[in-house]
Parts: sequence; structure tokens; C-alpha cells
Amino acid sequence: MQKNEIVELEITDLSYEGMGVAHHEGLTVFVNNALPGEIVKARILKVKKNFAFAKIEEMVKESPDRIKVDLRQWVQTGLASLAHLKYDKQLEFKRQQVVNLLQKAHMDDVEVGQTLASPEEVGYRNKGQVPVRNVNGQLEIGFFRRHSHDLMPLTNFFTTDPEIDRTLLAVRDILRANKVPAYDEKNHKGEVRYLDVRRSKATGEIMVILVTLDKDFPQLAKVTEEISKIDGVTSVILNHNPQKTNVILGKKDYLLWGKDYITDKIGDIKFKISPQSFFQINSLQTPRLYQLAIDKAELKPDDVVIDAYSGIGTIGLSVAKHVKEVRGMEVVKPAVEDANNNATLNGIDNAHYVVGKAEEIMPKWAADGLKTDVIFVDPPRKGLTPEFIEAAVKTGPEKIVYISCNPATMVRDLEQFKEAGYDFDRIDPVDMFPQTPHVEAVSVLKKK
Ligand code: SAH
Repeated sequence: MQKNEIVELEITDLSYEGMGVAHHEGLTVFVNNALPGEIVKARILKVKKNFAFAKIEEMVKESPDRIKVDLRQWVQTGLASLAHLKYDKQLEFKRQQVVNLLQKAHMDDVEVGQTLASPEEVGYRNKGQVPVRNVNGQLEIGFFRRHSHDLMPLTNFFTTDPEIDRTLLAVRDILRANKVPAYDEKNHKGEVRYLDVRRSKATGEIMVILVTLDKDFPQLAKVTEEISKIDGVTSVILNHNPQKTNVILGKKDYLLWGKDYITDKIGDIKFKISPQSFFQINSLQTPRLYQLAIDKAELKPDDVVIDAYSGIGTIGLSVAKHVKEVRGMEVVKPAVEDANNNATLNGIDNAHYVVGKAEEIMPKWAADGLKTDVIFVDPPRKGLTPEFIEAAVKTGPEKIVYISCNPATMVRDLEQFKEAGYDFDRIDPVDMFPQTPHVEAVSVLKKK
């Protein structure tokens, strides 16, 4: 097989990244935007030792599960790389990812629930973070084509709250009218690198963050004033990112206008959210995810509960009124400040959060002799560390509720808990990210 060769392929599977999988001449071929059951004529883009990448040139036999609207933009940008698959099949795909991982780990006896569907299939994101670049002499917002920094201009971000799209376009027009230069990555010049807009569905408040190369520039005051007049905007923030880097946000935020947070709600608990704090992006599905996790925890009034990887304390504060004490830790300092302030804001006095790495804080608490009843963990994609798991077990919890955005590391960690005297018999996938291959899942471990 060679680059540019056209081969006919039968797609037999979907990769965890949502690419069609075929086998040809002993190689696994990943085909962009192809679905199981399809036969395609594909152009080979890249050949490695054991696998190759290809793209569809001609559809020979189409899957009945394909959605036939022109979603190329979204598929290409990687913003919504499963958008061509019917929603119920997306849910099946996500469940199957978990089943496959369990099989590989020889834990076939673990039950996997049906993936909990998201109340909204599009327009569900409460945050839009989009690059700003010059395209054909005009400032544009959009998304980078897959594996590139080639900006595709967009006016509809599809998975984002339409009110956020409206705000992004209004800011784009203000930047254009005031001739603010877009960031030029090649020469590390220009001004605005990214726009980051957050909106609360519960309160309607909107935060606009301009991510810029310089802390100040001639048009800033006028631009700020105009942005502050966009319907719904309650905060205008400048995030200063002077580095040559792919990291989107710089370290420092400056309040340009309004409040330095937005307020959102989960259930009946209010949350103030600072610009750099993590907040679950699917507003309507989040309370359902938490409820699933909380139901599994079967909390009692005397329980000492840990909220590990707490963000702004959303999980711990949701349960604080039903237990004796909540303790949490999180590595981002402003998020911890938010968590403690949010406790006060909601009249909660039995929840306390500290700044630090979970894998360092947990061993300290264990060494201090802390005894716990329920531990919630909600780590980033890389999952937990052996040090964390060992320390968590030492505190003797009856249950550990694991919320994961990466089932591969989750299964790995569940195995380690199993060796340490805990057991689990079920994993429930939850769709937090419709139209994308991302899988969220919940499982509860019980002391044997
Ligand atoms: N439970 C929260 C946040 C989950 S996201 C919610 O549902 O909203 C994971 C969080 O873990 C992020 O806030 C991230 O900043 C934090 N984090 C990442 N690495 C960490 C570490 N080593 N120790 C503690 N927190 C960490």
C-alpha cells in the first residue's frame, strides 16, 4: 500500500477516536468520516508499519446509520467528529467502547449500562473557545482543521449554545470594525489569539474572555465598551498570553468590565465560576451525571465524604447538606477559592477545599489518620495515580464513586482498587459530549 493509492475498503468498526476501521493487506486502515458497514473507495494518506490513514474518495455502499446533511466543516475540524452518525448509534458506540475495554482487561462479567442520552444533542456546550486568525485579509473566528493550525472560518459552532455563537459573532464584528489585528502565529504578532465565551443557561449571564498577545492595545477601551453592550454580557475579561505556545490561556486574567465571575446553578446550588476554573460543559446533562453518582453513593447523615479533583466543588457541595463533612482538593487555586466561596454562598459550613495535587494531599490526610466513608473521584483524562489509590484505600471508605472522562484509565484504576480489596460490578456510560467520540462513565467500588 502506498500514499495516494486508491483502495476499496470495507469498514468493520469505529476507532475510539470515531474513525472508520478497515483491514487491508495486513494493515489496519483508519478512514476519516467512514462508518461500520460501509464500503468506500479511499485514498491512502499516510502509511506506517502496522497501520495507515485514508480518506473517502467515493462511497460505494453507504451505512443506513449515516446522517446525510453536509456536516463536512464540523467533521473536518474535529469539533464534532461523530456528527455523521445517528444519535442512538453514537450512544451504542460509547457503550461499546467500555465493553471493549473490559473485555481486554478480562472483566467481561462487569455489566455495562445503556449510555445515558444527553437532553440536548446539539447546542449543549456552555463554553465556546475559538481561535481568531486572519484569513484572506479578514479577521475570522472558526476552528483549526484536524492536525493543523489552518483556520476554517465558521459562523455556527453546532455543539455550542446558540446564544454563545451569537455572542462570538458579535465580538468578531466589533474586532473587525475596530481594526484589531488577529494573532499571527507565524510571526508571533497581532493581538487577539482566542475568544472564550461562557454562558449560564440557568442565569443567562455571559462572560467574554479576549485572549491576547499584549496586556493592552490602542483599541482595547473602545472594544471593551462595545462588547459590554452585547445582550447578556455581564463580564469582559482579558487573558494575557504573551508566549509562543499552543496552550490557549495565559496565566493572568484582567477584569476589563463587569464581574470577574459568572453565576450558574446545578440543581438548587449556586456556583460562581472564575475564568480559569473548570466547569462541566454540558449544563443540562451535568445534574443527571451527578445524580447517578450520588445515588450510587447511598450517602448517610454521618458520612465523611471526599470530593477529589473537585473543580469548583460542584459534587461535594451538591451532597454537603446530606452528610457530616465534605473535604475536597483541586490543583487550580482560583477553582479552590471558588469552591470555598460557593460553600459560603449556599450556606454550607461543613465543606472545605484545599489547593494541591490529589496524589499528594490524599497521602497526607491518610497519614493524619483521616477516616472516610465515601470518596468521589473525578480525575482528568490521565486518571488516578497508584499513590492516590493506596492512600484513598487507607482511609477505609465503604464506597468509592469513580466519575471518568476516559474509560481506558478508569478500567486500569478500577483494577488496582480491586487488588486493594474493593469490588465493582457495573459501569454506566453517560453522554456528556454528543457528536464527539468522548465517553464519560460512572462506577461504584464497594469494600469487600
Ligand atoms: N469534579 C469537578 C471537576 C472535574 S474535572 C466537576 O465535576 O466539575 C477535573 C479537575 O481536576 C479539574 O478541575 C482539574 O483542574 C483538576 N486536576 C487535574 N489534575 C489534578 C491533580 N493532580 N490533583 C488535583 N486536581 C487536579
